[in-house]
Amino acid sequence: MTATAQTLVEIRDAIAAGEITSTNICSEYLERIAAVDGSLNAFNNVTHEQALERAAAVDRSRTAGDPRPLLGVPIAIKDNLCTRGVPTTASSRILENFVPPYDATAVSRLEAAGAIVLGKTNCDEFGMGSSNENSAFGPVKNPWNLTRSPGGSSGGSAAAVSARLVPGALGSDTGGSIRQPAALCGVVGLKPTYGRVSRYGLLAFASSLDQVGPLTLTVRDAALLLEVIAGPDPRDATTAPQQVPRYTENLDADLRGVRLGVPSALLDSGIDPEISQAFSAAVEVFQSTGATVSDITLPHAQYAIPVYYLLATAEASSNLARYDGVRYTHRAELDPTSTTLRAMYDQTRSEGFGEEVKRRIMLGTYALSAGYYDAYYLKAQQVRTLILRDYEQAFDSVDAVIMPTSPVPAFTLGEKIKDPLQMYLLDIFTVSANLAGLPAISVPAGFTQERLPVGVQLVGRAFDEGGLLKIARAYERNNGWWKETPNI
Ligand code: GLN
Repeated sequence: MTATAQTLVEIRDAIAAGEITSTNICSEYLERIAAVDGSLNAFNNVTHEQALERAAAVDRSRTAGDPRPLLGVPIAIKDNLCTRGVPTTASSRILENFVPPYDATAVSRLEAAGAIVLGKTNCDEFGMGSSNENSAFGPVKNPWNLTRSPGGSSGGSAAAVSARLVPGALGSDTGGSIRQPAALCGVVGLKPTYGRVSRYGLLAFASSLDQVGPLTLTVRDAALLLEVIAGPDPRDATTAPQQVPRYTENLDADLRGVRLGVPSALLDSGIDPEISQAFSAAVEVFQSTGATVSDITLPHAQYAIPVYYLLATAEASSNLARYDGVRYTHRAELDPTSTTLRAMYDQTRSEGFGEEVKRRIMLGTYALSAGYYDAYYLKAQQVRTLILRDYEQAFDSVDAVIMPTSPVPAFTLGEKIKDPLQMYLLDIFTVSANLAGLPAISVPAGFTQERLPVGVQLVGRAFDEGGLLKIARAYERNNGWWKETPNI
C-alpha cells in the first residue's frame, strides 16, 4: 500500500496537499481488492466504476482549502446499510436483488464529507452471528490466518481494513458486531452510544440495540469517522439531540487522573489464557500512562447473554416480518392460481432466510408469545435495567470499564458453527454495552503465539465517546500494534 499514507487522516492530508489524487489512491485500493479479495471474501460487491467516477469528480473540482474532512478518501460500507442504486443484501438470499432507492444517513454523511465508497462488505445474515459463517455468500476469512474466522457480524469490514483493502469501513453493532471482529482482525472498532448515530437506512436487526459505527486502523481515524456520521437526524427519531464534540481535537491527552475499572469476577471463567495474558499486559500499560486501575463489580453482567438473546431475537422476529415476498425482491415461484397467500409467505421465507435467522425468528416469537411473555421477555427487560444500573454504579467510581473484547482469539472456521450456544457465549464481554446503551471501543492489544490479534475493550458513560477515544489513543500511542500488517 502507499508507503506514506495508510490511515484515513494520512490519505486525506496527502490528497489535500496535492501529493496524491483521489483517483490514484482509490485505484490502488481497488487493485488490491481485485488481487486479494478472492481469498478473503470480504466484499459482497465492489463499486469499481462508480468509485472511480466519483474520485475523478473530486480530483477535477478540488480547490485548495476545501474543508470537507474526508475529501477523496476511500471507504467501505457493511452490506446492511442502504446505498442508493447499489445492491444492499444484509448477506441474505431474501434481499439478494434489493437495490435501495436511498442512502442510509451514515452513508450520505460520509459522502457529503467527500468519502468515496469502494464497495459493500460481507457480514453475517442480518447481522446475526459472531463468525461471519451465517452469510448467504460464504464466510469471510481472517487475513491473519485464512483458516480462521474474522469474527462477526461485521467480519467483512474488519477483514478489509485489517488487510488494507480499504483504510476504514462502517459496521453495525447489536451485541458486539463491530468490536468483536475488530478484535479478531487487529483493528479499532467503536460502537457509539445508543442514539449517537442515525440508523436511518440500516436494515434493522434489534432496534433497541443496533448502532452504526466505524472500523479503522487507528483511534484517530475512528474519531474522524464518528465526527462525520454522528448527530441528530430528523429521519431517525431515536437519535439524541446532543451536540457532536470534535472528537479529533485534543485526542492526545495524558491519562493522569483517569480511573479505569476491571470487572474481575466476570473475567474469572472461560477466557483463553493468552487473552488473559494480553489483557493483564494492557492493564499495566494503562497504569504506566497514569491511569489508576481498580476492581469493580457488574453483578448482573453474568446474565447478559440470556437477556441479550431473548431481547434481540424478540425484536428480530418483529423486524424481519416485513420480508414476506410481497414488497422486497425474493418471492417463491409458486403457481398463483393454486396457492394461498399464506403458502407464498411460508415458501418465500423458508427459501430466503438462512438457518440461524430462522432459529432466531422462532426463538423470538416464542419469547413474545402469550403465556411466555412474562417469564421471558418481561423478565429479560427487567434484568436489562439491572445491568444498566450496574454500569451506572461503576461509573460513580471509575471513568471507564476495561475488559477483553472477546474471550478467545480468532477460531477456526467450522469449529463453532454447529453449536449455536457456544457461538452465543463468545459475546459475553460485548453484549452488556448494547443492553445498557453505552459507548464501547475495541483497540488492538497484541498477538497470541500463533500471531492472531487480541483486542482490549473500554466501555464508557453514555455520550462519552470523546473520553473513550482519548483513553484508547493514550494506549495506542504506547504500542505499535496497529502498524502490524497481515501477510496477504
Ligand atoms: N454476535 C451477536 C449476535 O449474533 C451480535 C451481533 C451484532 O452485533 N449484530 O447477535
